[in-house]
Amino acid sequence: MFIQSAERIGGGPIVPSKLLLNGRCLTVLLRTLEAVWPEEGCALLVGGSSADGILRLNQVWPACNRWGREGIPASWGDSDSGARNNNFCLDSREQLAAQRWSRQRQQRIIGVAHSHPTGEPVPSSADQRRGEPKQLMLILSAQRQLRAWWLGEDREVRPVPIDVD
Ligand SMILES: [Zn+2]
Repeated sequence: MFIQSAERIGGGPIVPSKLLLNGRCLTVLLRTLEAVWPEEGCALLVGGSSADGILRLNQVWPACNRWGREGIPASWGDSDSGARNNNFCLDSREQLAAQRWSRQRQQRIIGVAHSHPTGEPVPSSADQRRGEPKQLMLILSAQRQLRAWWLGEDREVRPVPIDVD
């Protein structure tokens, strides 16, 4: 008699199976990200996840793109240009306020949305480097294509399907 080994647990990266959001959130998201065009717009994403790995976006928290503004370093030590047209930076005070607000409502920040006013809705190498791991990255292109990505602990990005209900 022998005992079969248990199923492998925690081997691979845990990527959400999909992102759920409603039409109201989608409208707020598009308006927020497009309002500052041709600069990159950004927003915090408040919501939660269910046991089956589905992420739910409940609230879009519009945020200021602080890139290059007072108190924010103009460069992160790489060769990217300092323009807000192709960079974004969140305000840490805004993030804290959103975190507090979310926690009081038994929710959390599940990720960050930003726009690529001239590019594809695909994470740049800077996005991969600067993003918060184990969070969702929503990117809106100039052609109004919205795509979701999961940034793993290994800083690899993986696509997440979006479902609007
Ligand atoms: Zn980007």
